[in-house]
Amino acid sequence: MSLVVYNTLSREKEPFVPLDPSHVRLYVCGPTVYDYVHIGNARPVVVFDVLYRLLKRRYPRVTYVRNITDIDDKIMVRAAENQESIDALTERTAAAYRSDMSRLGALSPDVEPRATKYVGEMIALIERLVERGHAYAAEGHVLFDVPSMEDYGRLSRRSHDELIAGARVEVAPYKKDPADFVLWKPSTDAQAGWQSPWGRGRPGWHIECSAMSSALLGETFDIHAGGLDLIFPHHENEIAQSRSAFGHAIMAKYWMHNGFLNISGEKMSKSLGNFFTVHELLDQYPGEVIRLLLLSAQYRQPLDFTPEGLAQAKATLDRWYGALRDIGKSPAAVVPQSIEDALSDDLNTPMAIAALHQLANQVYQQGGPGLAAADLKAGAGALGLLQQDPEAWFRWTPAAADGPSDAEIEAAIAARQAARKAKDFKESDRIRDDLRAKGVILEDGPKGTSWKRG
Ligand code: AMP
Ligand code: ZN
Repeated sequence: MSLVVYNTLSREKEPFVPLDPSHVRLYVCGPTVYDYVHIGNARPVVVFDVLYRLLKRRYPRVTYVRNITDIDDKIMVRAAENQESIDALTERTAAAYRSDMSRLGALSPDVEPRATKYVGEMIALIERLVERGHAYAAEGHVLFDVPSMEDYGRLSRRSHDELIAGARVEVAPYKKDPADFVLWKPSTDAQAGWQSPWGRGRPGWHIECSAMSSALLGETFDIHAGGLDLIFPHHENEIAQSRSAFGHAIMAKYWMHNGFLNISGEKMSKSLGNFFTVHELLDQYPGEVIRLLLLSAQYRQPLDFTPEGLAQAKATLDRWYGALRDIGKSPAAVVPQSIEDALSDDLNTPMAIAALHQLANQVYQQGGPGLAAADLKAGAGALGLLQQDPEAWFRWTPAAADGPSDAEIEAAIAARQAARKAKDFKESDRIRDDLRAKGVILEDGPKGTSWKRG
């Protein structure tokens, strides 16, 4: 089945036909780096990582760009609070982001541009917009002239009045129209800033993505993605900037948006304070558990974050890894058709997960690894799951765990083995019971004793 994606522009599912099939280009809006991200922010990363993997299986060349916003008022405020430089803060949080996302099994994007490295391109783009009559300078600011674009609001489908209400823009005196938005703003000496034709200042948020996407992917490209909350104003304004600057009918051909990760029915967000950072959760759960939870709903649907959901994802992975335990070095299989079909239908991950459950059931019914196990591993790989050694999976331990170490467990198992050999079953049972009391379960099989933390 060929890929079909829901395009926010048309509000319909459409067949995916790349602009250039020899080179597919994808842009996902990345984080503003001033602190650890929450798991809501990880949803687009994990969901569009599944898309990236699918595109890489089907097209000879894919370029995936995910930016880092490293200049923003929130960053300036936090750096001042922490009494550290903006560079130190953004370097530190960007590194933590990269490490956390990789622990969630997300592949690195091909390019991860930092906004501050593209300020020259942003200034050039703003100059172009001014030249073409789509932007104007006023009191050290440069603003995008919204009424200069005929079909502004097409992505979010908002009327001019709704746009103003939705943007909650302060109606600054220098704006010609209340819907006009900032491309460039002045900086005081104490604030981060760059020299520009309009004086020392810094870019607005939206122009960053227009500049980086056009520099790295071209004036038009295939897919632009992010969370639902970015449709307006961020993506609407990116489209306005890029189309007005370059004169094309589109910026990206397909616009994909993930739904929210909620807590008790409310969007997880920094401002509501109802969030868990990926960083703290990774102390308590393997990254794969969080990843499976994030993929358990179709990406456009809301997804409730609950401890039960995490426990269920853990139990599922225990069962799946159990099915792979004795798979050994079997030849790698291709992703089964059932899973390709599910993902081709606008990334239907719940359907793909159901297909993986069926494969795992087959392994257990057959009473051992075989073709189904190889299919399970390859199919799960399409979701970025089940790629570690099953034994490593079962040995995972929370960061704060105070049980025995791997080496202590191995030593106890060796001692038990010796006791059994000497027919001292009282001692071997004592060792097993002692480990069990410490949360370690032993399983005797034909190939010896394996263990897991239960
Ligand atoms: P931000 O740093 O707020 O710009 O968010 C980074 C990315 O995370 C954007 O694509 C947002 O749309 C997305 N995002 C933020 N909060 C949530 C949430 N609760 N659920 C899903 N995606 C979110
Ligand atoms: Zn963006």
